[in-house]
Amino acid sequence: MKRIPMTIAGRDVPGSEAIEVVDPATEQVWAEAPAATAAELDEAFGSAADAGRTWRLDDAARQKALHGVADVLLRNTDELAQLLTSEVGKTLADSAMEVKTTAAWFTYYADLDVAWREVIDPAGVTGIREPLGVVAAITPWNFPLALASWKLAPALRAGNTVVLKPSPYTPMATLRMGQLLAEVLPQGVVNVVTGGDDVGVAMTTHPLTAKVSFTGSVQAGRSVNAAVASNLTPVTLELGGNDPAIVLDDADPAAVAQGLFWGAFYNNGQVCGALKRIYVPESLYPQLAEQLAGVADALVVGNGTDPGTHLGPLANRMQFERVQSLLESALADGAQARAGGVRVGDRGFFLRPTILTEAHAGQAVVDEEQFGPLLPLVPYRDVDDAVRQANDTTFGLGASVWGGDSARLHDIAGQLDTGTVWLNAHAANNGPHVPFGGRKWSGLGVENGLVGLHSFTQQKIVYGPALDTAEGIVP
Ligand code: NAD
Repeated sequence: MKRIPMTIAGRDVPGSEAIEVVDPATEQVWAEAPAATAAELDEAFGSAADAGRTWRLDDAARQKALHGVADVLLRNTDELAQLLTSEVGKTLADSAMEVKTTAAWFTYYADLDVAWREVIDPAGVTGIREPLGVVAAITPWNFPLALASWKLAPALRAGNTVVLKPSPYTPMATLRMGQLLAEVLPQGVVNVVTGGDDVGVAMTTHPLTAKVSFTGSVQAGRSVNAAVASNLTPVTLELGGNDPAIVLDDADPAAVAQGLFWGAFYNNGQVCGALKRIYVPESLYPQLAEQLAGVADALVVGNGTDPGTHLGPLANRMQFERVQSLLESALADGAQARAGGVRVGDRGFFLRPTILTEAHAGQAVVDEEQFGPLLPLVPYRDVDDAVRQANDTTFGLGASVWGGDSARLHDIAGQLDTGTVWLNAHAANNGPHVPFGGRKWSGLGVENGLVGLHSFTQQKIVYGPALDTAEGIVP
């Protein structure tokens, strides 16, 4: 049985208790991860606090260290990708892409031009960006490494130190990343602990936590927000979504089908900003359903380690059963599986990509976040009504509009209550420089870009003359 220790204070900590890790393609327990005890968590926070006293002082050293992180991740791409595929199920190609994306986030933040000191008022007011302290970083199971880098890279560059906890479903790649980071970072700058949700709860209220950066479900995010309130701890929440696409009547179904499909089904739909419901004009409904079904039917669903596989299994039993139950209830309510709708084999969490027609508000698959390979198509007559339905949700992560007239696309984009709107695309990510965040219950705050780094700092305002140094006057 594979077991990877936690990294605390730069050391391997095997832990006395364990959680089992299941391969979603075989349903076999293939690994064990430690379950951090309260004492181990205290040690992780203590070591992060100690490391922060030096780490915050030298930005050039931090830039060099972040480049070192990117390098060590890239050198170990194959091993990390294997671990990801064994715990999440995605194809090896997608896992390798995730490792490379993770490295790219560290490179971006290593190189980012940051004004640590700014003149607020030339008459004598300086703003100084200071780190907050120890960041509690908590991640979900769909992109364990990439989403960790959204927190680690900006937090570290800003001079914070981190205690990171991955999902109990997917601890292994993150544990290994912790060991690799310990090779290139000073002791205690990043500590990786594993365990169940209880470990996450303890992190959010730990007395040494200066900021919580959380990615996960709305339900857990609301609990985190309530927990941090007692200490008034700053928090960033990246939560779930139920992204709508509105297809306009001048769209060409054949031309938009691939973009719509992969906006919905990349990573088997287990993407926070995946397209989760489409509003289609009645005039285009049959053609678009046929085009999407054609794309779905052509794909190979199989083990992520097989080179011919397009989509692997869903990531875990909990998600597999939830998606199956959403499918069954939609079918029972009159929806039709135009493609898919069936499990593949009787072992492993495999489900064919499913296009659901005759879908409408009131069905859970339309109203809730399915986070799986199901895409409901909702017909509409009046575009204002489609916009109303798109906004009629507590979610507000992303949305997209599809059609040929730019002015019309922008007009509708302006009416959508979401953090991101794509035009003729969905869930595209141009890289770490682009801010990302949700409205309503999809989140609080923003990750990525300079604004993401700023969220790991507090600006101290200093009244008085600018600093006179050997290099000259600086603000
Ligand atoms: P989850 O909320 O169950 O768990 C996420 C993490 O939080 C895990 O590490 C878990 O152990 C921990 N946790 C759970 N309850 C906690 C609590 N009360 N206090 C502290 N920590 C707690 O989410 P999941 O099932 O792992 O991930 C899927 C969800 O994540 C989906 O809703 C998806 O949309 C969302 N997500 C959002 C983004 C985004 O950027 N907005 C990105 C990816 C995933």
